[in-house]
Amino acid sequence: MADPECLFCKIVAGDIPSERVHEDGEVIVFRDIAPRAPTHVLAIPRRHVASVADLGDDDGRLLAALFAALRRVATDTGLADYRIVTNVGPGAGQSVFHLHFHLLGGRPLSWPPG
Ligand code: 5GP
Ligand code: ZN
Repeated sequence: MADPECLFCKIVAGDIPSERVHEDGEVIVFRDIAPRAPTHVLAIPRRHVASVADLGDDDGRLLAALFAALRRVATDTGLADYRIVTNVGPGAGQSVFHLHFHLLGGRPLSWPPG
């Protein structure tokens, strides 16, 4: 169910434009508007889920679809080394409350993140 106030639901609907690099029945992957690395895309479910904290025990297929899409984008981009990260809650840096996995690559990535 879409949330009318949700930025990423509006991206799913096409009401806000995005540069999509992959889409299928369950998932959209698009370029982050403020990239933090040469490759920085976001994989989101079409369905509104606020974060990992709101996933259910039945969401395994959705998670598999998200990671399959990310893997495909990484491969198509020629990335061998990359990072996939998701922030849960404002204290961890979440600013958009529609589940998304960041894929970052194309430069050395330090650890741990700040
Ligand atoms: P978070 O901070 O929630 O982990 O990540 C949200 C991400 O969404 C940020 O990296 C931010 O740059 C990106 N973002 C915010 N608004 C937009 C937008 O309108 N379009 C796109 N493509 N990315 C956005
Ligand atoms: Zn949403």
